[in-house]
Amino acid sequence: MTSPNPPIALKGSCLCGSTTYTSTTLPTSLCYCHCTTCRRLSGAPFLPFFDLPSSSISFTSTTDLKTLNLSAAAERAFCSSCGSPVYMKYKANPQSIGICAGTVDENSMGPTGLGAVQGKANHIFVGEKAGWYEIGEDGLRRYERFTDAMGEEDAGAQGEEKRQKE
Ligand SMILES: [Zn+2]
Ligand SMILES: [Zn+2]
Repeated sequence: MTSPNPPIALKGSCLCGSTTYTSTTLPTSLCYCHCTTCRRLSGAPFLPFFDLPSSSISFTSTTDLKTLNLSAAAERAFCSSCGSPVYMKYKANPQSIGICAGTVDENSMGPTGLGAVQGKANHIFVGEKAGWYEIGEDGLRRYERFTDAMGEEDAGAQGEEKRQKE
């Protein structure tokens, strides 16, 4: 437990362990994304992402890591061996990466690190939320689409054009 060397703030992996990463900083926020793409991709009502500066993340094993460009707006990555979704990166904002929160080894953050990210969550793309899923009274902010900050950065990319479907 005495890692002599530097600052690993957290680590994580896909289910099978063939994709691994470390980060030198803790997440700046936690996003629960309710968009259609995240729902289909995960099979779950929403996909939680820890937002981190891309420069903080090092992928330490990427043998089976595959990237997907499912829309013009974002690159996603998943492990082709076990199927875990691993990250999403907006093309308009490549300096930031959304790591799929379920792949983070929360023990690696320690109680302090965990405490630092709690209370920083919000719901995004609530406008595309599954009708069969009710967001509980969690007191978190809800956004129709992007958060305020992301909305500006993504103004050009305007998401994944799902709206036009209906
Ligand atoms: Zn895997
Ligand atoms: Zn999404």
